[in-house]
Amino acid sequence: MKVDFHTHFIPQQFPDMGEKYGGEGWPTLLQAGPCQADIYHAGKHYRRIDDRSWDPERRLKDMDAEGIDVQVLSPIPVTFAYRFSAQAVLELAQLQNDAIANATSVAPTRFIGLGTVPLQVPDLAAAEVRRAVTSLGLAGVEIGTQVEGKNLDDPALEPFWRTCVEVGAAVFVHPAVMSGLLDRHPTLRLCFAHGGGTFPWLLPRLDQTWRAFDDVKAVTANRPSETAKLLSYDTLTYDLMNMRLLIDRLGAERLIMGSDYPFPLREVPPGAVIDALDGLSHKERADMLGRNALRFLGREVLF
Ligand SMILES: [Zn+2]
Repeated sequence: MKVDFHTHFIPQQFPDMGEKYGGEGWPTLLQAGPCQADIYHAGKHYRRIDDRSWDPERRLKDMDAEGIDVQVLSPIPVTFAYRFSAQAVLELAQLQNDAIANATSVAPTRFIGLGTVPLQVPDLAAAEVRRAVTSLGLAGVEIGTQVEGKNLDDPALEPFWRTCVEVGAAVFVHPAVMSGLLDRHPTLRLCFAHGGGTFPWLLPRLDQTWRAFDDVKAVTANRPSETAKLLSYDTLTYDLMNMRLLIDRLGAERLIMGSDYPFPLREVPPGAVIDALDGLSHKERADMLGRNALRFLGREVLF
């Protein structure tokens, strides 16, 4: 069973929010032919994409060709739009979340969806994660590492985290500092993109800081390297040495295969670095290639 946890999706009918609500630099999608489109973000061309980004049937063909059983669909991060008016962003998030739920319904045993929320207003984000999980059947949400200068451990975000725990939403994040958040919500399921960035490499220094300073210990009772093992990380690091560090430091059970399909930096075929690793048990390999993703998403019974 191979699950590609890190893939992106955008609806082909992507509204022009700037036209409707005003404001410069909204993410927009302009068709560039029958199967191609251009994403613009912050007033600049961001990326040329094709129908792999929005067409579930096309994705299924690629998945079959590359031996992928399940893809986890998440929004393209430039569409988070945290700096715009929350009411407009809620509308955009709902449209994306509905589209992702629709795409998963094309092949419910092959796709799992993650949505997006207007995190700049935590109460609206909480309401939308609840709708996404309980009404649309998404497994959780994807969020950025920062919300308009606020880190993810900002107290203002508590209503959002509480609701994620309450509805059992999995959360896919880019690297960020986690101080005390997991002390408050030990059952929160967070997965960081790109092997957690530099975070796993920094853990010995963070442990040393924790040991040396009582005020750091006051914020979090647990050693950073222990807390790190409560989190999950995707394996998109392109490199055997990086993968060995992740396995040694965090454990194979915390690692989730993801490829960044369909973008140019994607790993081809998905899971190539895991396949190339020596010395793994059959279980460790199967866990990283698929079982850990399903467990993280709360979907292990369905597949
Ligand atoms: Zn990505």
